[in-house]
Amino acid sequence: MVGIVTLSGIVAGRGPLERNIPGRSMFEGPILGAVTTGVVILGAGFGGLELSARLAEALGDDVDITLIDKADSFVFGFSKLDVMFGRQTPEAVRLHYRDLAASGVRFRQETITLIDAESRRVVTDLGSYEADVLIVALGADLDVGDTPGLVEAGNEFYTVEGAERLRDVIPAFTSGAAIVGVTSSPFKCPPAPSEAALLLDAHMRARGLRDAVDISVVMPFGIPIPPSPATSKAILQAFAERDITFVPDRLVTSLDATERVAVLDDGQRLPYELFLGIPRHRVPEVVASSGMTVDGWIPVDPSTLATRFPGVYAVGDVTSVGTPKAGVFAEGAAAVVADELIAQIRGGEPAAPYGGTGSCYIEFGDREVARVDVDFFSGPSPTGTFVEPSLQMAAEKGAFRASRAARWFGA
Ligand SMILES: Cc1cc2nc3c(=O)[nH]c(=O)nc-3n(C[C@H](O)[C@H](O)[C@H](O)COP(=O)(O)OP(=O)(O)OC[C@H]3O[C@@H](n4cnc5c(N)ncnc54)[C@H](O)[C@@H]3O)c2cc1C
Repeated sequence: MVGIVTLSGIVAGRGPLERNIPGRSMFEGPILGAVTTGVVILGAGFGGLELSARLAEALGDDVDITLIDKADSFVFGFSKLDVMFGRQTPEAVRLHYRDLAASGVRFRQETITLIDAESRRVVTDLGSYEADVLIVALGADLDVGDTPGLVEAGNEFYTVEGAERLRDVIPAFTSGAAIVGVTSSPFKCPPAPSEAALLLDAHMRARGLRDAVDISVVMPFGIPIPPSPATSKAILQAFAERDITFVPDRLVTSLDATERVAVLDDGQRLPYELFLGIPRHRVPEVVASSGMTVDGWIPVDPSTLATRFPGVYAVGDVTSVGTPKAGVFAEGAAAVVADELIAQIRGGEPAAPYGGTGSCYIEFGDREVARVDVDFFSGPSPTGTFVEPSLQMAAEKGAFRASRAARWFGA
């Protein structure tokens, strides 16, 4: 590899063996491995963290890894639920990139402003990079302003800032209607709206105010977790026991700030005192303008996560791979890409295809957590197995978090 240091940043050099080989598919990129391979990973979320850790662990000095993220720290999605209900402070849930555990990963806190997938060139606010292999793991951005009234008259809990604001808003909520409302699809972590409703129920009970409030969940699905009827049945049963209203197959399209009414896509108007929104999801602007997307997301080969650009992969929420937008799927996809690159560089068997499986933990309130094990690709349609809520499962969720924090941050 030829590494060129420029005044504005580091340009990871392209390997001299890169060339187009007749007979290689459009998804295949440069030949890797004869010299140090320059891998540039865009986004240090679930996908980027797992990919960089796995590559560094397996390949050591045989790979030159640059990991770029505009943030200074990572936060697990589920930690936002802890923040909004005051169970954790925002600072306590941040894992700082300065503590990255993998040696050999060069972390750059920079904002990516341009991705040229054809040439595998990336420009940031501080420099530019050229890669032998480029992986886009930039997640889904939240467009809170897309839903009229949401900024002025509602709240959202999908960003750390939104969850932090709710830490002060929820204690002031003493009576009236609360709505957990999804504004568009797809959205991250399909169980999260149900979890928010169940946690709000437990929170209001603990304050002795449950009888003074109504709680509803508005969701664009017929049942809470479509791939798993058993999980959906358990959630609906918990809703029924706790007097939480489930409004299926609907989206919230706007909030009427004057009347404090949520307007649904069929015209229904639901009054509220507290609105907890799930904002519209989009690819980050830099991805939208890269020309990589089709129908809003980056299409990939579901077996390999390769994009149509040679040597360019995409993993996680930024893709339309066919699994839900959740960290466990981003992590699983990253592992497949890492294993494939390791095989290419070390000359082993190709990686096993991506299986589209993952386990999601579901908060049921009162510290109990359930689990759903979902499989999106094995059968003709997705399936899911439900594990009942328990304190034991809550401990397992804690161990899941701790294992990633240790692996990625040495925490
Ligand atoms: C309330 C809530 C609960 C959740 N619960 C769970 C759960 O229990 N289990 C689960 O598996 N998932 C859960 N999730 C979903 C999970 O957080 C995401 O699906 C996961 O983080 C996606 O991983 P990713 O690597 O694709 O993207 P992300 O983790 O979102 O990472 C993308 C990274 O790209 C960076 N980035 C974006 N644009 C730029 C740019 N222009 N320049 C530089 N950097 C940029 C961002 O800063 C970010 O760090 C939850 C989400 C929410 C909101």
